[in-house]
Amino acid sequence: MSLQSKAAPVRFESVTKMFGKDVVAVDNINLHVEAGKLVTLLGPSGCGKTTTLRMIAGLEMATSGKITIGDRDVTKLPATDRDVSMVFQSYALFPHMSVLENVMYGLTFSGFAKDEARSRALDGLELVGLKGFDGRLPSELSGGQQQRVAVARALVLEPQVLLFDEPLSNLDAKLRRQVREDIRAIQQDLGLTVVYVTHDQEEALAVSDEIVVMRNAAIAQIGTPRQLYDAPNDRFVADFIGEANLLACQIISVEGDMATIEIEGYRHTLSSRDMPQGPATVAIRPSRLVIGAEQGIAATVAKATYVGVRMEYTLTGAFGQVFAVHDDVDAPLEPGAEIRMGFAEKGPVLLPE
Ligand code: ATP
Repeated sequence: MSLQSKAAPVRFESVTKMFGKDVVAVDNINLHVEAGKLVTLLGPSGCGKTTTLRMIAGLEMATSGKITIGDRDVTKLPATDRDVSMVFQSYALFPHMSVLENVMYGLTFSGFAKDEARSRALDGLELVGLKGFDGRLPSELSGGQQQRVAVARALVLEPQVLLFDEPLSNLDAKLRRQVREDIRAIQQDLGLTVVYVTHDQEEALAVSDEIVVMRNAAIAQIGTPRQLYDAPNDRFVADFIGEANLLACQIISVEGDMATIEIEGYRHTLSSRDMPQGPATVAIRPSRLVIGAEQGIAATVAKATYVGVRMEYTLTGAFGQVFAVHDDVDAPLEPGAEIRMGFAEKGPVLLPE
């Protein structure tokens, strides 16, 4: 016997969640998670990520709107009838039960015969790389291993949707990378539908098919990691996903779908993204600033830091301050150097002012 996926899509239609009369935790969101995809809810503390996840699980009930899993309207269904499993930040293992008993618990609870539950639980443990650990107590495992047990316990139920609430928060940086790669590999191997909450943008970029960036109870932008990185809709998304330098500019002309912008006499032509002439913001990634360009914006090297594989520079000028990275480790710019900086051809993105 091996574990199967019954992956189903999840849909939110105009879903709002209020706590009391005043707190709007989730404000009228629409969302479609395709079957077999890993979608991350990403955003700063308090933006509504966990509440959204808990509404899929049935641990919170929507105040208005409709939630479907596959063809089923689950909006008013209790958690036990939703066919979803959730992995928590805290693992939530039973300390007095062995690893095997922990993984079997949900199976026997939902009516599986003991032999079948045991065989599935062993399969689940093997899948998360814990073969041979079945007799241990949770306290005899590392944090990363405990979280794998929690993942196995959720997987063996073969839910239509698997939910992760900041599953890596309690792990150190190295383990976090390892466990996130494992979660992604299992999700892809089994074709699971996963909704995953994190406030760590690097984690979201690394594991997701799609990222839902949330802000103030609403969705700021939905896209693949690449789309969000290359074409953020606004300053908030640009800054939240990857580092971005945000500079004030003037759109001096628009021709077709291209715009020419000017900053202190330096001109660059790029996609207009339907923006009209006038003041705007340009976002540019640290690696897309061309430093030491012949033509460009006058800047002074305020700080130069050697970090092994590259140099990191802080540049200042009339525009304010930017952060740049460059692979000129063998001939770095010195602090105090007066340079010019330009934009790489596909580097900058126009944003509303
Ligand atoms: P974090 O990353 O800090 O967990 P989050 O994005 O997951 O944040 P939520 O936990 O969904 O945010 O909370 C959204 C808003 O709803 C916050 O303002 C929070 O204070 C509020 N909230 C959440 N749960 C409750 C509750 N049970 N009662 C009242 N207000 C709540």
